[in-house]
Amino acid sequence: MSNWPCRRIVVVGGGTAGWMTAAALGKTLGSLADVRLVESDAIGTVGVGESTIPPLVTFNNLLGINEAEFVRATNATFKLGILFENWKDVGQSYFHSFGTTGKDHWTAGFQHFWMEGRARGHEQPYDDYCLELKSALANRFAHLRDNGLSYAFQLDATAYARFLRTLAEKEGVVRQEGRIASVEQDGESGNVTALLLEDGSRIEGDLFVDCSGFRALLIGQTLGSAFEDWTHWLPCDRAIALQTAAVRPPVPYTRAMAHDAGWQWRIPLQHRVGNGLVYSSRYLDDEAAMERLLGNLEGEVLTEPNKLRFAAGTRRAQWSHNVVAVGLAGGFVEPLESTSIHLIQRSILRLCRMLPYGEISARDIAEYNDQHHQEMVQVRDFIILHYKVTERRDSDFWRHVSAMEIPDTLKQKIELFRETGRVFRRNEELFQENSWVQVMMGQGIMPKSHHPVAMKFTDEELSRFLSGIRDSVARTVQGLPPHPDYVAQYSAGP
Ligand code: FAD
Repeated sequence: MSNWPCRRIVVVGGGTAGWMTAAALGKTLGSLADVRLVESDAIGTVGVGESTIPPLVTFNNLLGINEAEFVRATNATFKLGILFENWKDVGQSYFHSFGTTGKDHWTAGFQHFWMEGRARGHEQPYDDYCLELKSALANRFAHLRDNGLSYAFQLDATAYARFLRTLAEKEGVVRQEGRIASVEQDGESGNVTALLLEDGSRIEGDLFVDCSGFRALLIGQTLGSAFEDWTHWLPCDRAIALQTAAVRPPVPYTRAMAHDAGWQWRIPLQHRVGNGLVYSSRYLDDEAAMERLLGNLEGEVLTEPNKLRFAAGTRRAQWSHNVVAVGLAGGFVEPLESTSIHLIQRSILRLCRMLPYGEISARDIAEYNDQHHQEMVQVRDFIILHYKVTERRDSDFWRHVSAMEIPDTLKQKIELFRETGRVFRRNEELFQENSWVQVMMGQGIMPKSHHPVAMKFTDEELSRFLSGIRDSVARTVQGLPPHPDYVAQYSAGP
């Protein structure tokens, strides 16, 4: 047994955040720590969160997960991006893919060359230059050996937590069932010292990871870490989720269908489809929301509706005293662009990097909180973009979001792109230049100018350059197997 002062680590909550944390800490620390996870079956988990983004592949690899086993256990399908319907305007759609579009030059992104092409009469859409996008819409997928497709998963969240639990328990993590009734703190330092469960048991710890979901039992209720409210930029605050039977083979993308007071998701898994209506309670009442969701489903309804309330925002301090929040306990932007599980992963990796040797350092806490806040703000801005830049004016909701003031950071990004076609990725932000370009053009911005370097091409050179990329994309897509066949074969194993 180690004598590391942070040896006793208690994870509060067994949702996606809790089990991802427990599995990662168990794997990273081994016998150095005693990791215990407390969860309450009576309370349950939020039970949604089924669409992910590519870094999850890396996280699973870090845990040593066999991907085929994982795909089988979670009934996962592959995901190459999101189809945004009715966002630019009613009846119009665009695709935000995980890939890159075309080929960049070091001075200028591909969009500049594509715009030069347009000016010279090349009519082919920007989408034709992206392998992930064309593969997704053709419903094709494979793990390619060279220049592989950039992909993520659409998965059963409950099954993923169960899968991680098995993994964590193999690494020595101990699960404790029970509802936490109260929390003990050290009178002097304010540190959390123990959790008291309803059955009378007492769990002591040196470090606590709060994965208690929206309840934020330790970081919010016990330590009072302030909540930074972003609902004035992101007014959606409710969701209804339910599952339906599949009526068609699964596609490798999530659908985000805007309606007049929010949007609806459709996430195809192997065995069923996840659906949900996200809406702003200021513009749509619960009854109308339910009616709207039920009226826009395919297939037999398999579950009772899961009604959820949330507020977009973040806790200013994710780490306070000896408590670190991971997951919904620390904040939530909103589910558009599927960033929440990724932010869980980021918190876990950051925590693993900043584990204290002895006493917890105030510098570590400050660094951790700054890094997390910056990441949340970057994600927030990207999500706001989808609401702010739109041609929709057909409802109070869309009139409000299109007219609202936005953060200066985002305003600069939008206006720079509008004038020059340029986008810069700052401070290793999650969404890269190509994501911004796809969404900004998809939402209706066509830059007024582009980089002069694209003018260097002769007509013939430009034509060859553009058609070379298009042909290569089209050829590769043709060679890919149908996604449903690939998933079935892959998850069946060798
Ligand atoms: P929870 O799942 O709520 O888990 C909380 C845990 O704490 C539970 O085990 C509970 O039992 C335990 N607990 C709480 N109080 C106590 C107590 N007193 N005693 C004992 N145990 C307790 N993310 C994505 O990445 N992609 C998506 O597509 C996506 N869609 C979403 C859609 C909606 C509408 C919402 C609201 C969220 C979505 N998310 C999505 C976010 C995602 O669902 C969460 O990030 C993820 O599920 C993690 O949740 P959690 O583990 O923090 O909380």
